[in-house]
Amino acid sequence: MHDDTLCLPISRASRVGFDSLTVPVYRASTITFPTVAAYQQRREELYDGYSYGLYGTPTSRSLELRISELEHAERTLILPSGFAGIAVTTLACATSGQRVLFPDNCYDTVRPFALQFLAGLGIEAAFYDPAIGNGIDALIDDKVALVWVESPGSMTLEVQDVPAIVTAAHARGVKVAADNAWATPLRFRPLDHGCDFSLYPLSKYLGGHSDIIMGSVAVRDVALYRRLKDFSRYLGMGVSPDDASLALRGIETLSVRLDRSEETGLALAAAAAAHPSVVEVRHPALPTSPGHALWKRDFTGSCGVFTLFLDPRVRPLLASAIEDMTLFSIGASWGATRSIVAVLDAPPLRSIRPAEHDGPIVRLSVGLEHVEDLRADLDRALSRLDAAIGA
Ligand SMILES: *Cc1c(COP(=O)(O)O)cnc(C)c1O
Repeated sequence: MHDDTLCLPISRASRVGFDSLTVPVYRASTITFPTVAAYQQRREELYDGYSYGLYGTPTSRSLELRISELEHAERTLILPSGFAGIAVTTLACATSGQRVLFPDNCYDTVRPFALQFLAGLGIEAAFYDPAIGNGIDALIDDKVALVWVESPGSMTLEVQDVPAIVTAAHARGVKVAADNAWATPLRFRPLDHGCDFSLYPLSKYLGGHSDIIMGSVAVRDVALYRRLKDFSRYLGMGVSPDDASLALRGIETLSVRLDRSEETGLALAAAAAAHPSVVEVRHPALPTSPGHALWKRDFTGSCGVFTLFLDPRVRPLLASAIEDMTLFSIGASWGATRSIVAVLDAPPLRSIRPAEHDGPIVRLSVGLEHVEDLRADLDRALSRLDAAIGA
């Protein structure tokens, strides 16, 4: 053969005898087929096999399998972000003239997605009190196509009665999707509690290292999976095998990372509660948090993400106290090895039941630093806030 041809990877080293413990990164756009017939039938392969790099590689299929096993699911769809999972699930269930119900404490991008994007498609959205329980029945009529739950909800962390909502929705033939970002499948399995879809932002605890954006939607009904896959295909969505490999690596240590951040988080929540500038520590494992009894009934534990409601009088000092923390970095997202703090000037918008606080709120995501180092950092910041209110 000529040099031009010899430069191409036409012959390869054998893989026989190479049995690694890791899942390799398989990069591909084109996937080749041994026969014309196999090529012509490739569309059938996009759901579970290999047809084109966009629709799955052995790396992304391994990630799907890992999550299906963790979620007790039949199939999992991997998407470019957690939010893509919310969008694709919603679009796969609801069409023009129908309505979707969202909890009032939904992830913040959900509200403009519902009120602007879905409304533009003729899909109505209604928000409901996360504490509604089986009262959701009164909101379900023939127009409702899907009910979302997010338990605990974003920032304000109310725990919902998911089984009661599922029972009411299923009685009317309506599907339920769960945004399970806080709990991870290790603390609450939405499919075991009757939900039809379990969404996880892999960017959070499962990825766990602040370096990937990815999402997953797990289901038990294979027909639903095929519908989700079709919708993600129509929207041109796929994931990179490099990112899928990072997600697989993150999941390997999920259990120990989660245990550690749960334990440190509980210690920091107790430390924060002792500061007069903290009006309320919102943590589902605390008896004072809304839905605590439901958390105890349905969850097997907590994680290191919780929220502090602060006295309004700390406002002038808050930014500098947070900026002077050395171990908590200011930023969005959570579930990382490093501790993260998000600061809001007031509780987020609620259209059904406003949060009963008018001070700023701070959400902490506790990482893997030593508990004493984190406690010292937090105590220092909160002591400055205590001083600001003369306590
Ligand atoms: C982060 C988050 C999402 C979105 O995940 P991305 O991967 O960042 O798109 C969705 N829901 C909740 C509750 C989240 O916290």
